[in-house]
Amino acid sequence: MLQQTQVSTVIPFYIKFIDRFQNIKHLAEASEDEVMSYWSGLGFYSRARNLHKTARIIAEQYSCKFPDTFESLIQLPGIGRSTAGAILSFCFKKKFAILDGNVKRVLTRFFGIQESISLAKTEKDLWDLSEQLLPDGDIDIYTQGIMDFGATLCTPKNPQCHSCPMNQTCIAKQNNLTEAIPVKNKTKTKEDRSTEFYIYECNKQILLVKNRTGVWSGLWIPPQKNYLGKKINLIKQGERQCVFSHYRLKYKYFLIKITNKSDLMVDGLWFDWKEIPELGLPAPIKSLLISLTN
Ligand code: SF4
Repeated sequence: MLQQTQVSTVIPFYIKFIDRFQNIKHLAEASEDEVMSYWSGLGFYSRARNLHKTARIIAEQYSCKFPDTFESLIQLPGIGRSTAGAILSFCFKKKFAILDGNVKRVLTRFFGIQESISLAKTEKDLWDLSEQLLPDGDIDIYTQGIMDFGATLCTPKNPQCHSCPMNQTCIAKQNNLTEAIPVKNKTKTKEDRSTEFYIYECNKQILLVKNRTGVWSGLWIPPQKNYLGKKINLIKQGERQCVFSHYRLKYKYFLIKITNKSDLMVDGLWFDWKEIPELGLPAPIKSLLISLTN
């Protein structure tokens, strides 16, 4: 949950999630719909899909016992080298390195690395450094320490160098380079995309379809096609936008009243308006639909 998301945002989602899915078995046995409904609003939904798939693999192949080797962990959906290192270090106290954004920042600043962290060569050098620095004992404390150090002291903006115990030996600090390091490639300007959502209402219910592609895969959304042509009873329309990490999505929406559900031959399900807050919907779509009920 914490990947690319702040702790304060995650806490309420985490509490509800852990309360419902108290162990791997509970999560493995849950439907994708239910898991997505608990993730709705947190974004980066591939994390929820991967977590669910991973729980099922661990239930089926490891009898619900979490694997404790790097080779097994790296095979699981959503677990890369750094996450595998974090699990091995925190849960099994094994000597493995991590390299998340915080660690990269601390290492590049302290050692004065001015090559772009987007380059494969820099990434490799940082992994080598991260491994060389590992202590022989208290690996979990060290790993938590270096992550927290980057999150609280060696922060992206305005690092607290005056209270940093390493400020006399830190190359970035000594050379006034803390703002310039880590060096990143220029961020690309976000691409604009557009779509339309058709919210068909019949007898206080709306039609939703399960999205199967893109960042909202596995979530419920209104159909993106007008299946009724020009003969529609349009109640409301409008335009909104939402921003993702790589693009901006502008969308028009149309609230359409129909009298016969059978007029729509669409592979979806009808839900009561009052069910919307509990469904696994993308946050912008959920807030749009809730605003239409008021
Ligand atoms: S001196 Fe500043 S830049 Fe260097 S490691 Fe400490 S907090 Fe980070």
